[in-house]
Amino acid sequence: MLLRDGETMCCPICGGTVFCATAHVTQDWELDETGTFQKCLNDCVEVTHFPDTEDIWDCKKCGYSGAGQDFITKK
Ligand SMILES: [Zn+2]
Repeated sequence: MLLRDGETMCCPICGGTVFCATAHVTQDWELDETGTFQKCLNDCVEVTHFPDTEDIWDCKKCGYSGAGQDFITKK
């Protein structure tokens, strides 16, 4: 879990609470006879990495970008 009891994610600049961060997921691809990618068959089969405090988080409200750790605040 990303947060401990009493903590919440909050933009340190504008107080925004909606963010964009990168998750790592697996997906199934359709391939041709040479093994070349054709198209994605689904968005996500499994999440292999959830965004955490060491990833870069972007505030969707003001655009501030920083490590997830910078966004953790006490309730
Ligand atoms: Zn912000």
